[in-house]
Amino acid sequence: MVVANAHVTATDFAVEDAHPDWCGGCGDFGILNSLRQALAKCGRPPYAVAVVSGIGCSAKTPHYLRTYGLHSLHGRALNVATGVKLANMQLTVIAIGGDGDGYGIGAGYFVNSGRRNLDITYFVNNNSVYGLTKGQASPTLRRGLKTKSMSEPAIQEGVNPIGLAIASGYTFVARGYAMAGPELVELMVKAIAHRGTALVDILQPCPVYNDLFTVDFYRGKDLETGVPRIYRLADEGYDGQVHDPANPDEVTQKKQAALLKSYEWGDRIPTGVLYQIELPTYEDAVIARRPSAATGPLYRETRNASNVEPLLEVFR
Ligand code: SF4
Ligand code: MG
Repeated sequence: MVVANAHVTATDFAVEDAHPDWCGGCGDFGILNSLRQALAKCGRPPYAVAVVSGIGCSAKTPHYLRTYGLHSLHGRALNVATGVKLANMQLTVIAIGGDGDGYGIGAGYFVNSGRRNLDITYFVNNNSVYGLTKGQASPTLRRGLKTKSMSEPAIQEGVNPIGLAIASGYTFVARGYAMAGPELVELMVKAIAHRGTALVDILQPCPVYNDLFTVDFYRGKDLETGVPRIYRLADEGYDGQVHDPANPDEVTQKKQAALLKSYEWGDRIPTGVLYQIELPTYEDAVIARRPSAATGPLYRETRNASNVEPLLEVFR
C-alpha cells in the first residue's frame, strides 16, 4: 500500500536535464507544470505514478516527468494505461495526449474506457490541430473553421469531447485551460482523486498552427468588453456533482446541464467540473472475483506459475 507523502514537491517530478522540445509559447508547457504540481499536491511519490501517452506533441510528456512512463502508439494511450492499471492497481495511472490522438484514431478506445470506469485519469491537450504533423484539422475543429495551416475550411463537423465522454460513461468530466495554472492544478487534483475514469479536456493554444484559438482569443482581446472568454463554472454556482447516484432524475438533469454547458463557445467558454458521479469501478468487479488483485502487482502471482489461464479468466 502506497501512503500519501506530504513532503513530495513538484520538483520531485522534474527530470534533470530534460528540455521539452515544444515550440515557444506552446500550451503544453503550462500543462506539464500543472501536472507536476498536481501530482505533488496528491502526495503520491514518483514511484507510485505511471504516465502513459500516445503519439503527438503532448505525447512527449512522460519523457519530462520523473515517474514510470510509456510513450506508446498513436491513439493507444488509454488501452495501454488500462493494462498498466490492471497489472498493478496500487499505481496512480495517468494517460495523456492530444485531441487528434485521443478523439480521432483513439476514439473507439475513448468510448470503451468510459464504459469500464477503471480508476485512471485522462488529460487531453486539445488544440484542434495535429501539431506534430504540421497542423491539419483535428477532430475538435468545427465545420467552417480554417486555421492558418489549412488551405480550405474544415468540411466535417467537430466532435464534442465533453458530450462524448458523458455518453460513454466517464464518471468525471471537466474542461481546463492550459494557461490557467492554479485552476488547472486544482482540476487535475480533483480528477486524480476521483475514483473512476476521469477526463480533463484541456484547451491548449498551439501558436504555430492554430491562429484561431490563441491566448489572446481566450483572453477576449478581440471582444469589445475585453472580458476573458474563459470563466469558471464554480464561480457562477454551477454544480456538476451528482449527489444521489441512485436517483435517475438527478443523473439525467446533471448530464443535460453538462451537455448544455459544453456547447457554450463564443464570447464565454466555461471551465471546471461539468459532471461527476460516484459509481462502482472496473477494479471493484475484478477484485470481487479475485481479492488478491487489490493487494499487489499481478506479477507476484504469476512469476512462479506455469499456467496463467486462471489469471486471464479474471479479466474475461
Ligand atoms: Fe505546441 Fe503546436 Fe509546437 Fe506542437 S506544433 S509543440 S502543439 S506549439
Ligand atoms: Mg492536437
